[in-house]
Amino acid sequence: MKSDMALQQSRLPEGLVDRVPLLWINPGYGQPVDNRADSLDPAEAEARFARCAGLLQQVFAELRGSGGLLRSPLTPIPAFRDFLAGDRADAGTWLLKRDDALPVAGSIKARGGFHEVLALVERIGLDAGLLGDHTDRRVLATAPARAMLSRHSLAVGSTGNLGLGIGMIGRGLGLQAVVHMSADAKEWKKQRLRSHGIQVVEHRGDYAAAVAAGRAAAERDPLVHFVDDERSRALFLGYAAAATELRAQLEAADHPVDATHPLFVYLPCGVGGAPGGVLYGLKRLFGTHVHGFFVEPTASPCMLVQLACGLQRPVSVYDIGLDNRTEADGLAVGLASPLVAPLMASLLSGVFTVDEPRFYSDAWHLEDREDIYVEPSAATGLHGPLQVLDTPQGRAYLERHGLAGRMRQATHVIWSTGGSLVPEDIRQQFRERGRREAGIY
Ligand SMILES: *Cc1c(COP(=O)(O)O)cnc(C)c1O
Repeated sequence: MKSDMALQQSRLPEGLVDRVPLLWINPGYGQPVDNRADSLDPAEAEARFARCAGLLQQVFAELRGSGGLLRSPLTPIPAFRDFLAGDRADAGTWLLKRDDALPVAGSIKARGGFHEVLALVERIGLDAGLLGDHTDRRVLATAPARAMLSRHSLAVGSTGNLGLGIGMIGRGLGLQAVVHMSADAKEWKKQRLRSHGIQVVEHRGDYAAAVAAGRAAAERDPLVHFVDDERSRALFLGYAAAATELRAQLEAADHPVDATHPLFVYLPCGVGGAPGGVLYGLKRLFGTHVHGFFVEPTASPCMLVQLACGLQRPVSVYDIGLDNRTEADGLAVGLASPLVAPLMASLLSGVFTVDEPRFYSDAWHLEDREDIYVEPSAATGLHGPLQVLDTPQGRAYLERHGLAGRMRQATHVIWSTGGSLVPEDIRQQFRERGRREAGIY
């Protein structure tokens, strides 16, 4: 047993256990796998979002402007790019995908969360005979439907943002919600939830403990639906639907993606659902022309650890001596999703890890140059392009895939995953830390 473990750990990159920031290239990338994933089709989520748009538009004032569709801007960040990369020609185009600005949830969780809750209310409506396959979903906003929905409740375990997202979405649609929060969840998120009539249960343990508590609560009651962040198919597909949105935005802005115009995407990773879903969707659209990298805190590289050690059994960051303590609370997860890790084994190009000085100072510089505020978890991807361009591992990856001469025409999409709901006083604390870390006094 023990030597088995030692063998697994020998595949970890040097420095990982000492929290040295690094880029790990996935040796399994591109290898053929048996495609058990065929039943995961993002078109299912796209169709659900489309048929529920009228309902969402009616229920959420924030979604009126978009016709009930969840959309976030794709924004060029040339000043930030010039700050980090100077005027080097191979830096390519840098775009920020602004999921920090997604309505209602204020984070990427809106995508998975809305999809899962919509799937649930549709099922409740169908079971009750209120809905047929082609019935206008707005019927779910009528008084009798809301009275019925209010007997149902959602349970979810979270470090913060998923709870916030599910809670706000669930309440908006008329359901009850109970959010099990881990010890690292921020106080303001608990207060925000409570002020919206959402029950918050605090736990002393980490994210996995909060999830387990939510799962246990739901098992006792058929009217409670547990949103399982560690293995939910509905969450995953909701995230995956972001891919078609990004494709349309890239087309509209004249950024082609093909053999001579590679696309690089940097996605902050907690349990893996959000970044895994997005990358899964993008791979279906762009195949080998998209290169996906996850970002994890040096204290919580759970996806890196699971993929490097192999999928035979779960391996957590605690197993290798890391403590999973990070200010990037959205990414403070010790063990990767068992649904997502196997899907990433051949799709993910690599993972880079970042420490606090880096993501705090990057967040500060982003706001300074581009006037965009993002929360710490969301700032972790900002160094992505330089990880690929400037590290020996990154350069080797570019050589191996014939990309070294194509970087001028490359597009880098840095996924900004959260921030718009962060209250001003907390932003100010983050800014002060960022300013210190950036060496600006
Ligand atoms: C949840 C979250 C992520 C990562 O999503 P996972 O599904 O946990 O991997 C990234 N950034 C922010 C801000 C988040 O809230």
